[in-house]
Amino acid sequence: MKELFLLKLGEIVLKGQNRRVFEDKLKTNTRRRMSKFGQFKVTITQSTLYVEPLNDDCDLDGAWEACGAIFGIASMCRCRACEKDLDAIFKTVVEYLGDELSMQKSFKVESKRSDKRFPLNSIQISQEIGGRIAEEFPNVAVDVHNPSYVVNIEVRETAAYVHGPSVPGAGGLPTGTGGRAAVLLSGGIDSPVAGYMIAKRGVEIECIHFFSYPYTSERAKEKVLELARLMTRYCGRMTVDVVGFTKVQEAIRDNCREEYFTIIMRRFMMRIAQAIAKDHGAKCLVTGENLGQVASQTMDAMAVTGAVVDIPMFHPLIGMDKEEIVTRARKIGTLETSILPYEDCCTVFTPKHPKTKPILALVEAEEAKLDVDALVADALANTEKVAIRYYED
Ligand code: ATP
Ligand code: MG
Repeated sequence: MKELFLLKLGEIVLKGQNRRVFEDKLKTNTRRRMSKFGQFKVTITQSTLYVEPLNDDCDLDGAWEACGAIFGIASMCRCRACEKDLDAIFKTVVEYLGDELSMQKSFKVESKRSDKRFPLNSIQISQEIGGRIAEEFPNVAVDVHNPSYVVNIEVRETAAYVHGPSVPGAGGLPTGTGGRAAVLLSGGIDSPVAGYMIAKRGVEIECIHFFSYPYTSERAKEKVLELARLMTRYCGRMTVDVVGFTKVQEAIRDNCREEYFTIIMRRFMMRIAQAIAKDHGAKCLVTGENLGQVASQTMDAMAVTGAVVDIPMFHPLIGMDKEEIVTRARKIGTLETSILPYEDCCTVFTPKHPKTKPILALVEAEEAKLDVDALVADALANTEKVAIRYYED
């Protein structure tokens, strides 16, 4: 029999009445992801998503790797199905897991029986199969407390399934069950992680990047688009709105006091981002801000920045340490690209002494020197929409 995947549902199982909605979304998302790797049958029964190849042309390794990036899955295993019969189960253990088993110091068998009509209960299944394995592999000791390898047997409605240890899935909730967000994506380490974290909660994302040509180079923009492409592995297809931000920054530089440059610039970013978000049907803004990291990320500065928008702003990294953010960036595969040398518009015209405790009224007075609406409209007119190709394409 062919190999297949069993993906165990995560938090979805805690849902009540609307659980079906989450399961249907997860099935649709998984089918879409699998379609690149051949023909698969995708079904859900008993809190488990079954992904079965329908023919020999399927790229199982590619499909398996892609499954690891599907939100909504708590843990996953590759397994082999067989008849619900002890002889068939044992034969499958030997054929499918024998090579790995024979290299182990010790093992135990863990069984689950969700088909209660099966004559043996789970303890009896483990004892019976464990005894036969011990005979077949005399060099591998039985150790029920601390085995180096666990043979899993699941007797389910449809068949019996044999597999080795499971690995963790991507966690979170299925993409598309939590609405849509607009992520402010710079070329740094933080914002791709922030985007990933909001996406993990079932949210579809679009990205917005502020680009200050010629102060920031074409290469810096390419880098951001590459980060977005890397994010599609988890977050799905997206658009990046690249906003021409030079005029806004020059107007601030030419008219405002230096210590207010950054905070006023960030207020422009939020106004423009909000307009783009609404256009995409996105109901919140997401940034990689992290409390206390830089002058613009104090509580006071963030309050003054956030005062210009009327949709929620989420900052998934707010309480994390840099170390944790870097670890996460490495895990999701964005770190290497993020640390390539680049300029960001935030580092153009950086004041020597930025205000860490700006006062809203004073910032507004400073801003009154500018034609805010006209500058926002101009930046919006100067926005290029870039469709990001899917990671696997
Ligand atoms: P990052 O590593 O994400 O760049 P950071 O720690 O460098 O963050 P800032 O440069 O102050 O901090 O930016 C804070 C947040 O503002 C970023 O995480 C991002 O969400 C947003 N941001 C900054 N620069 C840009 C930009 N050029 N385009 C879009 N968003 C930006
Ligand atoms: Mg930055």
